[in-house]
Amino acid sequence: MQINVSQQLKAPIGSIRDYVVNEIVDIADGNSPVQGELRLMRTDRSILAKGTLHTEIELTCSRCLSSFSCPLTLNIEEEYFPTSDTVTGASLPLPDEPGCFTIDEYNILDLTEAIRQYALMAIPMKPLCGEDCAGLCPTCGCNLNQVSCNCPPKPADSRWSELGKLVLGNQASVNEQKGTE
Ligand SMILES: [Zn+2]
Ligand SMILES: [Zn+2]
Repeated sequence: MQINVSQQLKAPIGSIRDYVVNEIVDIADGNSPVQGELRLMRTDRSILAKGTLHTEIELTCSRCLSSFSCPLTLNIEEEYFPTSDTVTGASLPLPDEPGCFTIDEYNILDLTEAIRQYALMAIPMKPLCGEDCAGLCPTCGCNLNQVSCNCPPKPADSRWSELGKLVLGNQASVNEQKGTE
């Protein structure tokens, strides 16, 4: 997501350019479509990028563990600082702000990193495939969105967890036997 801003850097303070964004961006180990509108404004020291972008990324539901496409809205507002003077080519001092975004020596403003950071911040802590996701049955593990089971509603009995350990123990010994063959 790169924009050449050489003309806008020469333009007077306050001048505005509007862009329609329709890009594929690598956000979290996957290419996500990013769409929306972006406004670039020349300020006295930078180019201010502001806009609302929409994307979606593949997440795992925290209740039913199925993967689903989660829509995200990114309200981007970031200043991009030029690293060199567009007329003389002399390098410019950057503001004393850690991690500030820059425009490179070819006058390219690259939004990719900002989109990535905003998207990662927008990911919900406990993603849900739907508000009413029924989750997994704690007893048999079936996905209650897809099937219903006849398990008793309150299986939190210690005997069941003992049984669970037994089953896991048996599996472990089976695996060991396989390993020695
Ligand atoms: Zn779910
Ligand atoms: Zn069940």
